[in-house]
Amino acid sequence: MAAKSQPNIPKAKSLDSVTNDRTASQGQWGRAWEVDWFSLGSIIFLLLCAPFIVYYFIMACDQYSCALTGPVVDIATGRARLSDIWAKTPPITRKAAQLYTLWVTFQVLLYTSLPDFCHKFLPGYVGGIQEGAVTPAGVVNKYQINGLQAWLLTHLLWFANAHLLSWFSPTIIFDNWIPLLWCANILGYAVSTFAMVKGYFFPTSARDCKFTGNFFYNYMMGVEFNPRIGKWFDFKLFFNGRPGIVAWTLINLSFAAKQRELHGHVTNAMVLVNVLQAIYVIDFFWNETWYLKTIDICHDHFGWYLGWGDCVWLPYLYTLQGLYLVYHPVQLSTPHTMGVLLLGLVGYYIFRVANHQKDLFRRTDGRCLIWGKKPKVIECSYMSADGQRHHSKLLVSGFWGVARHFNYVGDLMGSLAYCLACGGGHLLPYFYIIYMAILLTHRCLRDEHRCASKYGRDWERYTAAVPYRLLPGIF
Ligand code: NDP
Repeated sequence: MAAKSQPNIPKAKSLDSVTNDRTASQGQWGRAWEVDWFSLGSIIFLLLCAPFIVYYFIMACDQYSCALTGPVVDIATGRARLSDIWAKTPPITRKAAQLYTLWVTFQVLLYTSLPDFCHKFLPGYVGGIQEGAVTPAGVVNKYQINGLQAWLLTHLLWFANAHLLSWFSPTIIFDNWIPLLWCANILGYAVSTFAMVKGYFFPTSARDCKFTGNFFYNYMMGVEFNPRIGKWFDFKLFFNGRPGIVAWTLINLSFAAKQRELHGHVTNAMVLVNVLQAIYVIDFFWNETWYLKTIDICHDHFGWYLGWGDCVWLPYLYTLQGLYLVYHPVQLSTPHTMGVLLLGLVGYYIFRVANHQKDLFRRTDGRCLIWGKKPKVIECSYMSADGQRHHSKLLVSGFWGVARHFNYVGDLMGSLAYCLACGGGHLLPYFYIIYMAILLTHRCLRDEHRCASKYGRDWERYTAAVPYRLLPGIF
């Protein structure tokens, strides 16, 4: 069992101390080894409530035209009972199960059987076989980066079907939205449970497994760092990108088709949501190699948080704006449209440029220009669990000199734009910005904790040089 092969598992107490002591810091900068009561409480709350939160939002749209208070008011006033709401909820169907199986199988095939060819003809695109970051155990994994190709082929097929083949209606996703939710849940729970069992009994890299002794924490946050089947099927890369993110744009297209079917036209708000979110999705796949260096891949282990989250939370809650617009076909005034577009594009610009600056800086080892000048650098070092010392650099110029996570600010501006595109009629489409604000603030604190453990005093020098996390002068 992998737990037995853990070398020198350090105690979590020392995680909090910011130190560069060489032996004490070995391998401590990954996920926690022990769980505090607050984390445990949050985890149990999420395990119990997250599936119901998703159900509540989707059901509120289906039965109450997206009025979030509708079900609560009906139950409180006795107009409906929980059993009435449940009885009106569509069950899983054979058609949905077949569709979902076909969809996931198609994405698995695109991922495993089609080596990337896009990098051969798209200038500036980095695909094919690429290396990830050094893991806490000191391993460097190789990845087959072919997400852009999978996204292009899937969408090509979608448009070919819509305009030529007519194998299925473009509203198919909307029409089976709740039955598909049950299928997504089955896959989400199956893959998380499989990952847990695999972590205990046949891990890909035993040195990169972490066990806290708490079943719920292990299940939620994962045991294995980079579970794989065979050489190339990487769970994290597959589940986050596809079926989750490839599906995002298809779901939006299906919602637009449904809006046209029901209301005779597609509103400018629906077009805005489709376009702004498509930019974000295409950006993700264009920069999939960069994604290997983000927290999801470099820090998080693969458990329910990523497995179920990628199968259910992401496709169902990140697409709420499009779903809302099917029920409320908002048509925006020209100034409103331009304002939302501008906010979305400026947010995207900050998000992309900030992420690009860090990526360029790390790829060139600081030998690049940031905003036309040689970048300011903090030299830093850290140790992996194999005892090896590695050297790295922190960027203090560009957006990384404005605040320590200004890339999140751009992301938040873009998220707000999607919500504002839906007008002010209901709260439901604003869930996304509330969620993203919580997610990214928590992520910011999580990352700072990790970086402090990893880099010790070098990180303190960075926080002294760039004192704010998100917004200069505020936080
Ligand atoms: P970052 O891209 O900010 O990566 C943080 C890591 O970058 C740190 O752990 C550290 O890693 C390194 N780093 C930190 N400061 C510096 C610096 N000054 N110079 C060089 N390297 C530095 O975070 P995420 O991975 O969370 O996010 C990536 C993007 O994805 C963000 O733009 C975020 O908004 C977006 N995102 C979107 C989500 C969504 O659901 N829509 C969810 C999560 C993220 P190292 O160990 O390499 O030093």
